[in-house]
Amino acid sequence: MIQIETAWLLLLPIMFGIGWLASRWDLRLENRMDERERMRQQRSTFKGLSLLLNEQPDQAIETLVKIAQLDPETIELHFSLGNLFRRRGETERAIRVHQHLVNRDDLKPRDRDHAAYELGRDFLRAGLLDRAEASLNRVGSGKFAAPAKESLLEMYQIERDWKKAITAASQLEKLQGKSHQTEIAQFHCELGQEALQANDLSGAEKSIQEALGVVANHTRALILQGDYLMALGQPTQAIEAWSIVASSHPAYMHLIADRWMKAHTDLDQSAAGLERLCELLNTQASGELLDVVHKQVMNIRGLQAANTIISEVMQHSPSLSALSKLAETRLALEEGNANSERLMELKSILHLLRQRTTSLARYTCGNCGFRARRFYWQCPGCNSWEAYSPRRSEGVAPSGPSM
Ligand SMILES: [Zn+2]
Repeated sequence: MIQIETAWLLLLPIMFGIGWLASRWDLRLENRMDERERMRQQRSTFKGLSLLLNEQPDQAIETLVKIAQLDPETIELHFSLGNLFRRRGETERAIRVHQHLVNRDDLKPRDRDHAAYELGRDFLRAGLLDRAEASLNRVGSGKFAAPAKESLLEMYQIERDWKKAITAASQLEKLQGKSHQTEIAQFHCELGQEALQANDLSGAEKSIQEALGVVANHTRALILQGDYLMALGQPTQAIEAWSIVASSHPAYMHLIADRWMKAHTDLDQSAAGLERLCELLNTQASGELLDVVHKQVMNIRGLQAANTIISEVMQHSPSLSALSKLAETRLALEEGNANSERLMELKSILHLLRQRTTSLARYTCGNCGFRARRFYWQCPGCNSWEAYSPRRSEGVAPSGPSM
């Protein structure tokens, strides 16, 4: 009995030793397999990057997708892939990648915010605005709070939901510590414009006052204030509002020159109204103001006066528009006297000048260079507010976008 127990006592340390050796062996085998797997993944990653560098993006994406599927820990790779899909216009695939991340329970709050933000951008790109709003609103108060708010602001502008845009821009000011007053004033103006069009005069007044409260003497708000006062039947007060535009922002007077003249005509003061516009031509002889003044001078003061004014403009601010107006005036002056050959010549010159003026005269965005026939407060090319110069240029069109 004692002999058997001694044998067991001797066997126990030997068995323990064998067990220890086996576990070490297993551990080494496991480490070697892990190492091999890591090497395999590293090779696949390098292969994916090499394909990208060799401009074979489709094969590169397939390789990187396989790595991401094999190793769920590669969160950054998931983000890179999702963004790559979105940039390529494959929004459905981008949504799948980012949705997968959002649904994971093991993500850190920062990664979850990042995923919600990227998913919101995907939905925005796909035009699924309700889902974009929900996803962007899920982003917490960390690093992605400001980019998410910027995306919401972009979205509300697409939807023309100006009230929500005002709230988002105000919140963004606090998050970024940066002014968004220009946009906020413009959003109030958009509301004012909509109210005026709907004949909601009290709503229009409220929005215009809000805009003027955000930016004192805001050009567009003053223009709208004049429109609102005209709608109320108060041309004297409308002229007062527009006089501030004439003295503080004269380059924008071409936008209201017609209405300015209408207000003065209503008060039987068209000569005084025209006199002020003629004075402005000394410094603001740009296309559209010239059009209105030329037409009004012809009507009120006659052809000779129009000839004198446009000749003066040609002296101090020569332009195609002014030359075209001069040719138009000379043709009208000579129509009763000149021979038919001379008239034909003037008509041909005028025709050519009008063609050139129409094809070249454009407003240009100072931010993206987008050129347009009409003036915009928000650029249709880059969506920037107040980026358009109020002066139309007549230079040769660059190769950039235009409409
Ligand atoms: Zn632009």
